[in-house]
Amino acid sequence: MKFGGTSVGRPERMHQVKDLVTSGDEPTIVVLSALSGTTNALVGIGEALADADKALAKERIDALHAHYLVFYKELLQSDSARAKAEGIIKEHFEFLNILLKISFNEAINRDILAQGELLSTKLFYTLLEELEIPAVFLPALDFMSIDENSEPELGKISEKLKAILAEYGDTKLFVTQGYICKNHRNEVDNLKRGGSDYTASLIAAAIQASACEIWTDIDGMHNNDPRIVDQTRPIAELSFDEAAELAYFGAKILHPASIWPAQLYNVPVKLLNTMQPQAHGTLIKAEVDAIGVKAIAAKDGITAVKIKSSRMLLAYGFLRRIFEIFEKYKTPIDMITTSEVAVSVTIDDLSHLGQITAELEALGSVEVDRNQAIVCIVGNEISETKGVIKSVMDALEDIPVRMVSYGGSRHNVSLLIDAKFKNEALQRLNTGLFSW
Ligand code: ASP
Ligand code: MG
Repeated sequence: MKFGGTSVGRPERMHQVKDLVTSGDEPTIVVLSALSGTTNALVGIGEALADADKALAKERIDALHAHYLVFYKELLQSDSARAKAEGIIKEHFEFLNILLKISFNEAINRDILAQGELLSTKLFYTLLEELEIPAVFLPALDFMSIDENSEPELGKISEKLKAILAEYGDTKLFVTQGYICKNHRNEVDNLKRGGSDYTASLIAAAIQASACEIWTDIDGMHNNDPRIVDQTRPIAELSFDEAAELAYFGAKILHPASIWPAQLYNVPVKLLNTMQPQAHGTLIKAEVDAIGVKAIAAKDGITAVKIKSSRMLLAYGFLRRIFEIFEKYKTPIDMITTSEVAVSVTIDDLSHLGQITAELEALGSVEVDRNQAIVCIVGNEISETKGVIKSVMDALEDIPVRMVSYGGSRHNVSLLIDAKFKNEALQRLNTGLFSW
């Protein structure tokens, strides 16, 4: 069971988490994020130190410290638990304060970022102790690791975690940190922002858990963007494949990398709401029955790059030469469409666009369209369902479509449009595809 920053961000919420994790019968590993706002604050402290602005760093450390000094008193009642929490907070803020006196580097920065999850889990564990709820504290740094490419080492994680858990045969409840891990140099590292979901999914896969529950403050993944479209509703069930198609767009609710570990070991993932624990939320699993369109999502900030060359005609190896250039600059390509003499691809990381286009010029003429949006329609077997593409095009009849990607997977149709039409496209598709 993983709880995000807002689910542990206030003392009373942490008490709710305690109720939720003690209400089931199955042994449970609880994965916690940092209290909401903490990781951002730690990023700010690291930035101030990187700029050698010690005064600002100190100010930020003190502000965060003050927050914890209020938090623990509301969280805990007994003198002994409070004394313990004071010790924990003292230890972590002393560590941050020592950094003001030494020279800063990237490894230290990652140590700073790890403080949030260490604090939240230790405080939560102190709450369990105060309430005499038996539990074991599992330091994530003892088993979570990434390799030299920052990829989690699932095999090693599994071996280590299983060995640790075997020492506590009768224990029903474990508490560990999301997000943090060790890297191949054995330094403290992390799974990138929002990475606690990923931790939960990796742990679930590592021990082949019966389920991986991601508890947030919304009632699951919605069938359209609730900020833009009225009357969206939570999707009851998604297959892993459908969820993987949507993850790129829904990163806010579920870290996109969290799908693969669960899928690999077939562990169902449930997206649940701490505020409404009884609500069904979204269940992500291997097979789903429902056919047809399930969700619409969009992402702006997309750039399309078109490479046109008559030398592509009947040539082999042309696509490889194009892709190699993107690979060289570590720039992921999202959508692709081709004609006989041209290729269009989309990217959202523009850090190397200049170098990429300069090298592409050697292969043909290059055109770049910025401010585009990918609109993605996801549903079980929709590319084999008659009429779906027609309904999509009918709904978008007044909106110029720059690219269409259909048949890449059975569960997805993607379109590229000018970002200025994004909201309108989402609304029109909602009316055109969901008839209720
Ligand atoms: N605390 C980390 C973050 O804010 C990880 C997480 O919350 O998932 O990014
Ligand atoms: Mg999150």
